[in-house]
Amino acid sequence: MTAEGTTTGTTTGTGTGTTTGTAAADGGAVRRALLVVDVQPTFCEGGALAVEGGDAVAEGVARYAAAHRDRYALVVTTQDWHVDPGGHFSDDPDYVDTWPPHGVAGTAEAELHPALADLRPDVSVRKGEYAAAYSGFEGVDPQGRPLADVLRSAGVTDVDVVGIAESHCVRSTALDALALGLRTRVLGDLTVPVTPELGAVARAAMAAAGAELTTSDHL
Ligand SMILES: [Zn+2]
Repeated sequence: MTAEGTTTGTTTGTGTGTTTGTAAADGGAVRRALLVVDVQPTFCEGGALAVEGGDAVAEGVARYAAAHRDRYALVVTTQDWHVDPGGHFSDDPDYVDTWPPHGVAGTAEAELHPALADLRPDVSVRKGEYAAAYSGFEGVDPQGRPLADVLRSAGVTDVDVVGIAESHCVRSTALDALALGLRTRVLGDLTVPVTPELGAVARAAMAAAGAELTTSDHL
């Protein structure tokens, strides 16, 4: 009875046989996670590294998650959580590789945005304690589990990525999700780039890597 599948790795294709990977190959065993990336006051209006539209994203994510929690096997938040991230911080930042101090661990700005007070995520991961970390997949949960392990152990096959900023941490998180073989959608109305130009660049990169760019009202 127990067929040994020939599939290796984490393909999302239509292979037959039994796999232990992350694929939902045989008839729609989709398990989707909502990845809420870096929705923190530090990246919103009035924050240390404010992105215009950040507060609106926070409120939109909160509304969406409250209305559609049943779509998700898992809701995960990520936070930039810097203790001493070395050259990620600079007094003379170039806003490419170096930034003004932001997301400082233990400060109110680094907490989840107050709009998410009722989100009650299943898992919260933090990243960047001692080095730059754009992707949520560089983060770990309170038990020290990397995000990829969290999703794998929950049987997650698909992710929806939302949050701040589309051009940076959302982009990196989506690209890492795709690299892990997760079907990945980015909900454009629930994210915002640092600038429109960088947003366009990010969307092109995510689409080229296989992400589906959509909006929450199209789901
Ligand atoms: Zn950072």
